[in-house]
Amino acid sequence: MTTTTIEVKNVQKTFGTFTALQDVSFTIQKGEIFGFLGPSGSGKTTMIKILTAQLEQTAGEAHVLGLPAHHMKKSENKARFGILTDNSGLYKRLTVEENLVLFSEMYNLSRSAVNEALAFVNLTEARKKKVTELSKGMMQRVTLARAIMHKPDLLFLDEPTSALDPVNTAHIYKGLRKLNEMGTTIFLTTHDMAEAETLCDRVAFLHKGKIQAIGAPSQLKHQYSDHSMTVQLVTGEEHVLPLADHAAATNVTQWMSTGAIARIYTNEPTLGDIFMQLTGSDLQ
Ligand code: ADP
Ligand code: MG
Repeated sequence: MTTTTIEVKNVQKTFGTFTALQDVSFTIQKGEIFGFLGPSGSGKTTMIKILTAQLEQTAGEAHVLGLPAHHMKKSENKARFGILTDNSGLYKRLTVEENLVLFSEMYNLSRSAVNEALAFVNLTEARKKKVTELSKGMMQRVTLARAIMHKPDLLFLDEPTSALDPVNTAHIYKGLRKLNEMGTTIFLTTHDMAEAETLCDRVAFLHKGKIQAIGAPSQLKHQYSDHSMTVQLVTGEEHVLPLADHAAATNVTQWMSTGAIARIYTNEPTLGDIFMQLTGSDLQ
């Protein structure tokens, strides 16, 4: 049985005369990692704010964990989700650990939850540092530790690795996958297509407040593929041939039988290529 965790129907959000989100619809099932992919200013944070009751949509419907999204600001629902945004809300004069302990007390969590969260974000050694002494990347990791500490059913991550180095990014990816395997549904925004491909079961491409395409990365790549392959011969010669084509297959068989092929691959677009194809613009 699948359960719907987030359901968004024809959501619109305007700020004065400016339309930030336009007719946005999507559904996220329990257990999915769903990526909201778009360049800066496309409406990603606005969507997260609506889903977490920091903003109300101008039109349309948004349901989260079975309730209208604006219910998420009620205290009894707050423990059901975690959120990482760039406005960290950390106590600057306290240490990393003191911040997390305060949060753990709010949710009646044990001390081991704090230690687990510190390990999750690779900050065990830095736990005695004051927030004022942290780099931007470390701050992002403390905020993430806080977002996951109570093992929420649903996690919102707004550009979770934007300030992180590759080592910490890989560490966080591993942790997020583990959390997801244990049942946490994840809604994440990013403009990093490699991140979306690595983590997401499904993605939506957002451009100027509108969803341009939605699907599993592999399905989108297939859908927007030109269905060709490139064959590189040992001579260095390169041939681009159609897939599922009789004449091409005969050629390939011929080359194979004489050991002429050095490399062969299908020409699938990257998510970035698809975004470019759909919108004429870059993800950055
Ligand atoms: P993203 O997170 O994808 O970078 P945002 O959701 O933050 O994009 O913003 C989408 C658009 O809405 C931007 O053009 C932004 O300037 C505008 N916007 C966001 N919040 C407000 C606000 N409170 N008032 C006016 N415009 C806003
Ligand atoms: Mg944003």
